[in-house]
Amino acid sequence: MKRLEDRVAIVTGAGRGIGAATAIRLAQDGCRVGVLDLKEEFCGETVQAIREAGGEAIPVGCDVTDAGQVERAVEQVVSHFGRLDILINNAGVTRDNLLFKMSEDDWDTVMDVHLKGSFLASRAAQKYMVQQRYGKIVNISSNSALGNRGQANYSAAKAGLQGFTRTLAIELGPFNINVNAVAPGYIVTDMTRQMAERIGMDFHENQKLAAERIPLRRVGQPEDIANVVAFLVSDDAGYVSGQVIYVNGGSR
Ligand code: NDP
Repeated sequence: MKRLEDRVAIVTGAGRGIGAATAIRLAQDGCRVGVLDLKEEFCGETVQAIREAGGEAIPVGCDVTDAGQVERAVEQVVSHFGRLDILINNAGVTRDNLLFKMSEDDWDTVMDVHLKGSFLASRAAQKYMVQQRYGKIVNISSNSALGNRGQANYSAAKAGLQGFTRTLAIELGPFNINVNAVAPGYIVTDMTRQMAERIGMDFHENQKLAAERIPLRRVGQPEDIANVVAFLVSDDAGYVSGQVIYVNGGSR
């Protein structure tokens, strides 16, 4: 029997990057997956990869900043698969700029996707988890929660997610719901590609420079995060809650 046999998960922002790798990994462990992204068509590749490997997944278009869309998306997954056990709040954007150049819109967009999006999805998911007295929520934070030049908005949102995680662990713990956060370091995705482009650096050169400063001397891959998420949502981590696990090759 696979580790997550019969479980049902929702992964937000799962059209690509860390979300896609996580959805695929959870499916490999036996989970049926609601693959959420801004538009249903963005979920196609992830859903196809899961189905081709013999897993079950459905694509769901959903902007996590919109309460109505989030409620409907969660209901769609529950009505299709019959339950909901796992929520991964992964959808994310960056709008980097130094404070004096950061617009109100840059601030609001980042807060809305990371913080409000995680709040809305967790609120919608918890009612099913509380009812069945079982659930796992993992919020994707970041190393940037510790502070990062040009990311006042992102850093504040990712630090906020850590407080959100600890609070949900307290509130939902009595209902047998584990809530944790994973804080990735440098992971090779479109997000880091765009960051390199913004500072006018070749993506491979950017990875090489980053790797030199990381104790394990390599940048991370989406699967490095997916593997830790898969552990946290399994019953092997049944007594782990309210924690923030940094997955960053040993960086500070
Ligand atoms: P990507 O940009 O590759 O993927 C982000 C995904 O989120 C995309 O599929 C995107 O959709 C989706 N998304 C964005 N806004 C919304 C929204 N409003 N509603 C639904 N989905 C949305 O990023 P990563 O895979 O790198 O990042 C995943 C998470 O990991 C993010 O929370 C990020 O902050 C975090 N992280 C990443 C690190 C890294 O080094 N890459 C480091 C630390 C944390 P679309 O395709 O439509 O844009």
